[in-house]
Amino acid sequence: MVGGKPSAPSPLLRHGAGRPFPDQGRLLQPCGLDPRPHADPTPEDVISDFAKFPELRFLNRHDWIGPWLLAVLCLWWGGWSGLVVGFFLSTVMTWHATFLVNSLAHLWGTRRYATADSSRNNFLIALLVMGEGWHNNHHHLQSSCRQGFKWWEIDMSYYVLRVLSWVRIVHDLKAPNPTAMRTALIKDGAYDIGMFRYHWDKATTRVASATQRTDLTDTRVRFSQLADETLAAAEELGRQTRRDPAATAAAAGDDAAAEPLALD
Ligand SMILES: [Zn+2]
Repeated sequence: MVGGKPSAPSPLLRHGAGRPFPDQGRLLQPCGLDPRPHADPTPEDVISDFAKFPELRFLNRHDWIGPWLLAVLCLWWGGWSGLVVGFFLSTVMTWHATFLVNSLAHLWGTRRYATADSSRNNFLIALLVMGEGWHNNHHHLQSSCRQGFKWWEIDMSYYVLRVLSWVRIVHDLKAPNPTAMRTALIKDGAYDIGMFRYHWDKATTRVASATQRTDLTDTRVRFSQLADETLAAAEELGRQTRRDPAATAAAAGDDAAAEPLALD
């Protein structure tokens, strides 16, 4: 559950090209340790799929319970050293592992899908954060609970969910269907507009910062217009080379977004 503006669907989805670093206030907020004087209210109206569960709303209202419970248990079990290692050190390490998803997983790794952002798939980060490191997969199909699409893409969160589904604690797991997984593949010729935007943004930003002299204003404005037109043309190419999931699904006769989990 999330604090944030109504236009933002999730705290962990509010990132992408041009914004490699996370909003640390929002990430600290679920830990009950948000350093800001106040946090945004949760926009429950835009996350009705989560907000319909009373237990989640309870945990969202009382988000101090988890960290305080862990701290007290660590102090009781291991004394002060237990508190330092079991709570403070583990919490800081968890923060940094989480931050890796929004920072390093947009800079280091491989790209399977031509998403509009700079997300990457990274094996090491996936191990550290229980599957979130398959971040390009996630950006391509964000409704999927499974982020490792291949058998060798270790996704601990998904395995835990599967076990919980076997004992009927969770249900209706969503996984991407094969049709959706075949769309926008770079190896099949989808133009990688995400990486174009990533480098284009860096290049045009440097041009802008190096041409602030007043005598260059007209030329800089002209450059800016051409840069915008070039980006628009590149995005159009990206659209034309990326197979449309809806059209593909219609041709295949199924739902491209997500479907009830099929065992594989
Ligand atoms: Zn991301």
